[in-house]
Amino acid sequence: MNILIVDDSDSSRLLLSTILKGAGYVEPLCAGSAGEALALLDERCRTYEAPDVDLVLMDVVMPDMDGIDATRLIKADPRLRDIPIIIVTVKDEAVSLERAFEAGAMDFLAKPVNSMELRARVRSALRLKEEMDQRKARERELEALTRKFEQLSNQDGLTGVPNRRCFEDVFRKEWLRSRRDGTPLSALMIDIDCFKDYNDTYGHLQGDLCLRQVAEAIEAALKRPGDFVARYGGEEFVALLPGTDLAGALSIAGLIRANVRAAAIEHASSRVAEIVTVSIGISGVVPNMDIEAESLLAASDAALYQAKSGGRNRVEVRPAA
Ligand code: GH3
Ligand code: MG
Ligand code: MG
Repeated sequence: MNILIVDDSDSSRLLLSTILKGAGYVEPLCAGSAGEALALLDERCRTYEAPDVDLVLMDVVMPDMDGIDATRLIKADPRLRDIPIIIVTVKDEAVSLERAFEAGAMDFLAKPVNSMELRARVRSALRLKEEMDQRKARERELEALTRKFEQLSNQDGLTGVPNRRCFEDVFRKEWLRSRRDGTPLSALMIDIDCFKDYNDTYGHLQGDLCLRQVAEAIEAALKRPGDFVARYGGEEFVALLPGTDLAGALSIAGLIRANVRAAAIEHASSRVAEIVTVSIGISGVVPNMDIEAESLLAASDAALYQAKSGGRNRVEVRPAA
């Protein structure tokens, strides 16, 4: 760990430096004035990502700027404020001691310096700094983990598209935005036809693969930046199309079906085709204060049910009540 000695007296610097080296610390950095110390700290901040100075021993009475003002400047600099500062001052300077703590110094040492006292104060200051650095590193790790976790929990592990939890968030926001802007919002419920039979015929692993392919086919049909698809559950997906009316939603539904068809996933036990197909229920509305957000999803769901009972492999539309 690096220690910086700031003192205008050559002999004081030499004395402190000698004691510290004798105690096993690396050659301390030295500055003969507050200005020189600030320049040195600034330079080391530029050279290294985090300032590689772990402790400052600061004399008080120096020409130009005194150690108290220098301490205040260091504590005001966000890059430097975590470096502990020990004020080294002539005994009985009670007034300047008070100013020193006010300025942000963590400890003080009386001159003439007693070598045992110096070593003890330096050791405990450095230990504190090390603990602080470790705590910060842990906090950073924790933040990174939290971000990762958030990302994971927004995502469906199997298909890679957003999951239902994420959908609920996005849906609420889009509903409010559309209501504010007076623009239409459409929702598509997309369900794979006869998927139980697919699993029974090809096995669950192949079924998982099929789900991924269908998710891709849906994603490929959504081109606008606001368009959003999520896995709603099992073999059901939901697509949200902000700023899109029923006619626009119908054409997207057609595109989704075309993409699924183009994927040409063999499905020998399907009751509606030789390949995997989907049924889609569409609903759309210009949200207003008299309509519940849930009614849009309920209407899409009812349209999907209609598509299923009407023979599957088709699209049905229902306006939201
Ligand atoms: P319908 O045409 O009426 O939609 O019939 P279906 O068989 O597709 O629908 P049903 O709800 O009867 O069955 C859904 C099947 O989807 C049953 C379930 O095992 C399967 N499934 C749900 N989630 C997964 C999954 O993550 N992986 C696999 N492989 N299968 C899944
Ligand atoms: Mg199904
Ligand atoms: Mg289903």
